[in-house]
Amino acid sequence: KANGKNTWAVYDPKRDDSGAAMERMSWRQRIEQALRQDLLELHFQGIYRVDNGQLCHFEVLVRMRDPQHPEQLVMPGQFIPIAENSGQILEIDRWVLRSSIALLSENSILPSLAVNISGRSFDDPELPQFIRACLEENRVDANRLIIELTETAAVSDIRDAQRFIEGIRQAGCTVCLDDFGSGFSTFAYLKYLEVDILKIDGMFIRDLPNNRENQIFVKAMVGIAKGMHKTVLAEFVEDAATLQMLKELGIDLAQGYHLGRPSADYGKFIENRAT
Ligand code: C2E
Ligand code: MG
Ligand code: MG
Ligand code: MG
Repeated sequence: KANGKNTWAVYDPKRDDSGAAMERMSWRQRIEQALRQDLLELHFQGIYRVDNGQLCHFEVLVRMRDPQHPEQLVMPGQFIPIAENSGQILEIDRWVLRSSIALLSENSILPSLAVNISGRSFDDPELPQFIRACLEENRVDANRLIIELTETAAVSDIRDAQRFIEGIRQAGCTVCLDDFGSGFSTFAYLKYLEVDILKIDGMFIRDLPNNRENQIFVKAMVGIAKGMHKTVLAEFVEDAATLQMLKELGIDLAQGYHLGRPSADYGKFIENRAT
């Protein structure tokens, strides 16, 4: 319970002072140091309109420089779960929000930014007010900020998720439900979550042209999303054939390696499109 909600653990006394526990301790310290020494950095991945290829907005993806090996870029899969367990994620999410909003205020040519928020941050009743204050201080229009929350996190704590969504919608931000279709009871919960964009989980998209079952699922998801007047986004678009299929299925937005890999240099995406 000390680890908070939305987590589970198998208790194994043998592991308590084993190498694995030591490793986790040291990762916590590394995250702590990264937060103190400003070793987090933002990368950006373009999200494009399927019909005309136009850049629509960027998803912000956090990375960490390992304090012991600053040349090494640590990916979120390696430190976000640890930070969620330790509670450090609250500080990371606020850092990413503050930095993204500052960037929006410095760069008027930058389109909207989509920021990922951990399910653990829903616990923080001050977060919507924090976002509102950041936007006001930086004079950034709230419609340039999109908040992404994962379906699994939202469904596992539906009341907190609803309260959080209500707070950020009132502030004027757009809400995107990430990894849609990856959880259980996906469709049942949709009517309780007031979101604008549904991002279909990459596992349904990756090999779409060759996977008849995934085509059926995606068609159903698009049908429901359209019926509810939501924008549909597909992640993990890795080739041209998949993009073509998204077009045929009537999907609005796409992101993935085929369209652009995440990069610290968002300027090149904007320039690429302009030429
Ligand atoms: P996500 O929000 O679902 O982000 C999509 C992930 O898929 C990113 O991994 C991205 O680099 C990767 N990706 C993009 N296009 C493709 C593709 O075509 N094929 C494949 N196979 N992968 C693709 P990344 O950056 O490692 O992030 C992993 C997860 O970590 C994210 O999943 C998100 O849940 C979490 N995360 C990232 N940044 C933040 C953050 O600032 N705060 C919080 N709370 N979580 C974050
Ligand atoms: Mg995301
Ligand atoms: Mg996703
Ligand atoms: Mg994902």
